[in-house]
Amino acid sequence: MAASKTADLATLAVLDETTLLEVLRRRYADDHIYTYIGDILISINPFKQLPLYEKTMSQRYTNQQKSTLEPHIFAIADAAYRSMLGRAAAKSCNQCIVISGESGAGKTESTKLLLRHIMELCRGNTQLEQQVLQVNPLLEAFGNAQTLMNDNSSRFGKYIQLRFQNGAVKGAKINEYLLEKSRVVHQDTGERNFHIFYYMFAGLSKKDKEMYGLLEPRLYRYLSFQSIEDDLSRSLSTKFSELCNAMDMVGFLEQEQVDMLTILAGILSLGNVVFEPQDSGSMAITGQANHWLNAAMSQLGVDGEKLRQCLLFSRSVTRGESIYRHYTRQQAEDARDSIVKATYARVFGWIVVKINQLLEPRTALGIAETLPEIGILDIFGFEHFKVNRYEQLCINLANEQLQFFFNEFIFSMELNEYKREGIECHAVAFKDNKPLLDLFLGKPIGIMTLLDEESHFPRGTDKTFVDKLNQSFRKNQHYESVRTSDTMFAVNHYAGKVAYSASGFLEKNRDSLPSEIRELFVHSQIPLLSQIFAGTVSRTGTLMLRKGAQANVDGNANSRKSTVGFQFRQSLSVLMEKMSSSNPHFIRCVKPNDSKAADRFDMDMVKNQLRCNGLLETTRIRKDGFSWRPSFEEFVSRYGILILQSSLPPNKESCNMILKKAGLEAWQIGKTKVFFKYRHQEELANLLNEL
Ligand code: ATP
Ligand code: MG
Repeated sequence: MAASKTADLATLAVLDETTLLEVLRRRYADDHIYTYIGDILISINPFKQLPLYEKTMSQRYTNQQKSTLEPHIFAIADAAYRSMLGRAAAKSCNQCIVISGESGAGKTESTKLLLRHIMELCRGNTQLEQQVLQVNPLLEAFGNAQTLMNDNSSRFGKYIQLRFQNGAVKGAKINEYLLEKSRVVHQDTGERNFHIFYYMFAGLSKKDKEMYGLLEPRLYRYLSFQSIEDDLSRSLSTKFSELCNAMDMVGFLEQEQVDMLTILAGILSLGNVVFEPQDSGSMAITGQANHWLNAAMSQLGVDGEKLRQCLLFSRSVTRGESIYRHYTRQQAEDARDSIVKATYARVFGWIVVKINQLLEPRTALGIAETLPEIGILDIFGFEHFKVNRYEQLCINLANEQLQFFFNEFIFSMELNEYKREGIECHAVAFKDNKPLLDLFLGKPIGIMTLLDEESHFPRGTDKTFVDKLNQSFRKNQHYESVRTSDTMFAVNHYAGKVAYSASGFLEKNRDSLPSEIRELFVHSQIPLLSQIFAGTVSRTGTLMLRKGAQANVDGNANSRKSTVGFQFRQSLSVLMEKMSSSNPHFIRCVKPNDSKAADRFDMDMVKNQLRCNGLLETTRIRKDGFSWRPSFEEFVSRYGILILQSSLPPNKESCNMILKKAGLEAWQIGKTKVFFKYRHQEELANLLNEL
């Protein structure tokens, strides 16, 4: 299966949007879902099983030159693996694979295929390889859910880092970003709660359900989807046993698994606690709700009266005295839901921490932080819904950063270097989104900075926040105020305009948990629950076990550091730094239609995604640009052998001599480097092979 003529868009003679789309459409109709733009892979979701991933395919894409075969995701894994090995002696041999695309475009499936092929390339058949492959199913059970867009939508972002030694995998580490914890307590019509809840009902035996105190799923308010038919039940039940296997294999203890399920059962019971107004105006938990409260109390292993207090009263401390105030119904419901959200997010955070401990790379010398690595980023794409909330703001900020990283790598660095080296190359216009990053992250005045400030301001409200935005960004062309509402604002993102509804922004950004709730759960009889509340799970999910001074970040709501936005920005900037010092590979996933249907290619939808991704410009720069730029020294030392001369001086003349002999076309020579098109590297490798 040699590569077809249209396998690489950068080699097309005519390059405009219509041609690109037409080529992609035709390839898709032939089940060629993968296409290159030079070194970038486009992947269009087939929504059907294709015979592309068997063992023979894995073998075919092992240690191969990319251009000799049809484009494939395995080729990217192979390329990343080989450059990690090949450059292992040099300083920067770390690789990162950045997968982007909208919900349902195929990012997570791609991640799994990459992992599978990389493990195949290691071919050690070790326990660790098997464990690494189980990480995704495990995380998906707790972090994925069915949405309108995707039956298996990841409701968190992740960066998986694999560490290697002598080509064998030595360990893995996961970073997790922004779990959508609000899903535990509320799902929009047609959407579901996290998979684990349904797996649990379908997979547990009657006896186990009794042990956990689980009743019929339809009895629980938090479960939107309650009638599980036989067929579905069977497949969910299989998923449950797969999950249990995965947990066993990765190394979760029996007791830990029991604790997790117990906590989930407690969450469901707590969700059924509703509030009755009393004549006095205060709220009470009576009748059936009282029964649920008792159930929650015993499942969560906490003191029932204290739990009731946490749900009905707020406590403030003035001059050493506690003052209790009755909650309104709304406040009581919010208190209940925030306990549940915090609990679920901490369980998830703990799972990630636990996986990281279990898969920590170890060598004879102890923990090995410095081994070369391949990182895979599977993070939510740009989101634009009817109503866009705080979560969308954060997600879209992350996407601006990723687009910026992509632009930097593909365009800016490239153009700057041409200039420096005096290379002739027609400038390719691209949409620089730096002004958008400034709008978000500017100091002291940026959307996120103002949000943090307002979150700490005692009289700040969502409205005062929007007022400040309107004042500060009146003249910013990427910002628009919304006349019809004083809690809305709009941002002109690189991928389009998004109107945000700011109601709830301050609350979500603060995300503070009253100290009495923390206190209550620290004393839970369930060891896992007590542990996750005693430690501090950061809002980005990382659990830091309490070490003296680091205690009680939650109580410290005045610290700017404690906002969700701040921590998210922090973790993004760590990620960007990490990626900037790696050799990047990009996979752009495309969703061909809105109905999850096979063989349907919606031109407008694909066009829109190509535009958002800047893929036309990318194609142009890959066609015209020089993606491989070895220094004179590097080039001469590697390819001097082509003219059978040793000890050539590392200068322009030597390079010219070699190039003349090699007979390549369209390269250029700068002041310190040779500039090659991406295809030249392979042409040269072939010449070396022929020697
Ligand atoms: P989200 O942002 O919502 O998490 P995503 O980009 O991760 O979305 P996936 O979950 O990877 O999307 O893919 C959605 C669905 O599309 C999969 O469940 C699967 O049914 C189908 N799919 C994706 N890639 C492939 C593939 N290579 N072959 C067959 N089916 C695929
Ligand atoms: Mg996903």
